[in-house]
Amino acid sequence: CGIVGYVGLGHTLDGKEFGHGAYDVLLEGLRRQEYRGYDSAGVAVIGDEGIEYRKKAGKLVNLANEVEAHPLSESNIGIGHTRWATHGGPTDANAHPHVVDGGKMAVVHNGIIENFAELRTELLAEGVEFKSETDTEIAANLIASIYNKLEDKNLTEALRLASNRLEGAFTILAIHADHKDEVVATRRNSPLVIGLGENENFLGSDVSGFIDYTKSAVEMGQDQIVTITATSYSIIDFEGNAAEGKPYAIEWDAAA
Ligand code: GLU
Repeated sequence: CGIVGYVGLGHTLDGKEFGHGAYDVLLEGLRRQEYRGYDSAGVAVIGDEGIEYRKKAGKLVNLANEVEAHPLSESNIGIGHTRWATHGGPTDANAHPHVVDGGKMAVVHNGIIENFAELRTELLAEGVEFKSETDTEIAANLIASIYNKLEDKNLTEALRLASNRLEGAFTILAIHADHKDEVVATRRNSPLVIGLGENENFLGSDVSGFIDYTKSAVEMGQDQIVTITATSYSIIDFEGNAAEGKPYAIEWDAAA
């Protein structure tokens, strides 16, 4: 129900402490979005060996304890999620992220995929095996399947093509081990806002997802896809045409 995405240039740059560790940003963003309600939580980052993820049913403290027991590598890119179950009960397995493409891609999702049954049948025929009862895992595998058919292995294009097959309401974020510098997100009838920092950028269901790090935000439209790197963002619509975001300054009382 709450979503966070983060990518920065790195924790140290030119020997200087710089930016933030992905996990700290993700956990703080999820904590700020707790008011939205949730039953499970999870994060994924890209470490030297590829995607690493932790997810737990229950409160954020369960996730934090899991990460303390099994620490994640230092990372400058990741996605986080608090889930409000709609398809499949609130279990560890059904929590997001869902990791697909042989462990190389992690996906989080807010909302509901209405045509999941039809897509599931299609993916089963391709030999996909499912590990959860969620509609999200079906969307994740659809993105991976499309991605792997692309000659140029373009993550943004995979999300765009998948978005045209998905019915319902969704905000979906994806990271891929072969794309260590970008977080891609798509949305239809579901909240998503971009946050701009200095050599680091953010995504959130709302600005509370990154309010501790920047007061500079960009509003984007529905049926659009955004790709963020540490130093850029670009938006396209579901047809692939470039779209403009609307930058604005967040007004916020620090006490919250
Ligand atoms: N439909 C998805 C699920 O049940 C996402 C729910 C949400 O918005 O948190 O896993």
